[in-house]
Amino acid sequence: MHTLPISFMMGEAVGVQSKVVSFDEAGSVGLIHIDNPPVNALNHEVRAGLVELLSQAGKNPRIKVLLVMAAGNMFSAGADLKEFDGLFKVPTLQQVQAAVETAPIPVVAAIQGLALGGGLELAMACHYRVAHKGAKLGLPEITLGIIPGAGGTQRLPRLIGALRALEMILSGSPIGELEAKTKGLVDEVVDGNLREQALAFCERLVRDGAGPRPTCKRATAADGLDESSIAQVLRAHARTLKGRTTPALVIEAIKASTLPFSEGIAIETALAQKSLASRESQALRHIFFAERDSSKLDGISKRAGQPEIKRVAVVGAGTMGSGIAIAFADAGRKVILVDNADAALARSREIIRASYDSSVKRGRIAQEIADERMAGISASITLADVAESDLVIEAVFEDMDLKKEVLSSLDRLVPAERVIATNTSTLSVTELGRATAHPSRVLGMHFFVPAHASKLLEIVRGQDTALEAVATALHVAKLLRKVPVVSGDAFGFIGNRMMLDGYFREADQLLLEGASPLQVDTALEQFGFAMGPQRVSDLGGNDVGTKARLQLYKRESRPDPYFVIADRLTELGRLGQKTGRGFYRYEGGGREALPDSEVITLIERLAAERGIARHQISDDEVVERCVLALINVGAMVLDEGIATRAADIDVVWTSGYGFPRHLGGPMFYADTLGLPHVADRIRYYHERLGHYWRPAELILWLAAENSSFEQRDRQRNSARKTALLSNTRAD
Ligand code: NAD
Repeated sequence: MHTLPISFMMGEAVGVQSKVVSFDEAGSVGLIHIDNPPVNALNHEVRAGLVELLSQAGKNPRIKVLLVMAAGNMFSAGADLKEFDGLFKVPTLQQVQAAVETAPIPVVAAIQGLALGGGLELAMACHYRVAHKGAKLGLPEITLGIIPGAGGTQRLPRLIGALRALEMILSGSPIGELEAKTKGLVDEVVDGNLREQALAFCERLVRDGAGPRPTCKRATAADGLDESSIAQVLRAHARTLKGRTTPALVIEAIKASTLPFSEGIAIETALAQKSLASRESQALRHIFFAERDSSKLDGISKRAGQPEIKRVAVVGAGTMGSGIAIAFADAGRKVILVDNADAALARSREIIRASYDSSVKRGRIAQEIADERMAGISASITLADVAESDLVIEAVFEDMDLKKEVLSSLDRLVPAERVIATNTSTLSVTELGRATAHPSRVLGMHFFVPAHASKLLEIVRGQDTALEAVATALHVAKLLRKVPVVSGDAFGFIGNRMMLDGYFREADQLLLEGASPLQVDTALEQFGFAMGPQRVSDLGGNDVGTKARLQLYKRESRPDPYFVIADRLTELGRLGQKTGRGFYRYEGGGREALPDSEVITLIERLAAERGIARHQISDDEVVERCVLALINVGAMVLDEGIATRAADIDVVWTSGYGFPRHLGGPMFYADTLGLPHVADRIRYYHERLGHYWRPAELILWLAAENSSFEQRDRQRNSARKTALLSNTRAD
């Protein structure tokens, strides 16, 4: 068996010199191979190769069946996202599918690993599908704010029924091969050698005299697709689809699948274009690329080698230390947890055991895996036991002197080339690093609660931290499957600074001026935040915020009325859910936040003491002020160089602070509002409310230039590329 470039195979100038699609024969089966690493994206070259081969192979009398396969460990992850910003080059995926469906002989897809988006749409246009054990098939387009636009909304209902198709497209999650077989999405599931098994399937088709079976010729089973079942599917995904516009387009497209195929596909194309042009889709694609780029670091090549991280030491076995230990054990690393209190180690063991028990109970992992991971975490009361570790993370109490002492001991115990990270959320990483003899290897790894499950990891670069140490931390984030963002070392880093100086502070201020906790929370939840600020404070504990602020005031102070309400609640022991009272009341240990008149009385008193006349405030004003305050501080964080890119800030806020992803993060959202408008409104609030509304100079400047944060990022990236190029030339 041989693989030849297309032009050779056909023995004539076929006009395609494709390296990514090739052809060979096995008896009466013609094999079309896609080989476009790393994910077999269906880019223009692949599509052109496929069309050419399909047309040529159909004319070859020796060939009775065509088998489409892909190299590597996945069939295809779909289209090349970069193409979504412009027009798809001809041939489009729809044209490839038309060539498949009109082929005079059966076309079979053999699917291994993932068949996602355009990958599954291609497979669905094939006449038959064979899936390998472990394959996953899905249409995740909704996560990018678009509808499957290459026949997905028309062919999936024809294969599995309209209601199931709706559920699958709205969930965005792939299904496994067995479920796909049960639903009728694949014809056969095979184990062992996929090529051999798929060839056997093809030969059976030939023996049975099976002809082409184009999906487009099938009728959609639409029974059960009524308004109440649609509402039920929407309810099942209410959390992820909150405030989204794409689901309505999906529903319209699925309903159109009962029409003749050509009509349905025309409707799908129009809806797909509408979804692509939507702000929602621009925002979600922005975040998709921002998350990918947030791990890129100026001055560090992608190829730079990274130390192997096999064994990790975590010092301080409290809430954070225990979570961090789980995170590394889940990533298959050995962990040693060190604490100077036996009781803490015992409690930590219980926390970790309870976490794994719950994962097993929820069916997330098997008991043996949980046991194996537990066994990978050892405990010690002796700090010197960290010496063999490839990475050390310090998570002791938030106390500068204590942390300095611990870090300086660690520095003596661990070889100088290894990274030492601190999980501090408020202290100066630079100052902590200088307590060691090797400040260049010290950085912050700011995990969020719960450390094993939260998506964001802020990597804090102190003034002396070496680039290589940051690169190692970025590599560690990848091991942990977290989204990293590099932050400068300043008050609150990126996320907490914006939360404290911008968002939550303004929420506290709005309460003083007349809003209630319920109004503020509801308005912001309506805007799209996962949870309003006061509910968040009550959940995490008002004392946690108060303590963090007290630490931060050692770096910089903040004038009254900075968090006067939240801090007074802490003083009164109203710590939130854990004490049954905070901004709200909680009855019987429950989580339902009930308005509390005592809190309103307290707020009225605090407002009167400051001469603030409370008045009615509209929900629109609540949202505008909280979000603009967030944007304004975000611009300062960017201008001060604490964040490198506006897109990094968007990643921090969408992955760590519940900002609605479909609005693209605060800085992207500011761009969609238009910076001249943002600047006007901030100036207006500055005049009305003073100090905390000082407009960020960057906003004023970008607004005057009629520019945007996105443009600033782009200019910065191209300046960086030019600098890299000229450095390479100079080398
Ligand atoms: P915690 O109080 O739950 O745990 C701290 C642990 O450190 C305790 O078990 C204590 O026995 C141990 N410890 C104290 N001194 C020690 C020493 N000399 N040697 C070894 N162990 C020692 O605290 P936590 O909430 O897990 O916070 C730990 C760190 O993580 C702090 O720096 C905190 O600011 C940071 N952080 C906390 C959160 C949060 O929400 N809890 C979030 C992000 C970061």
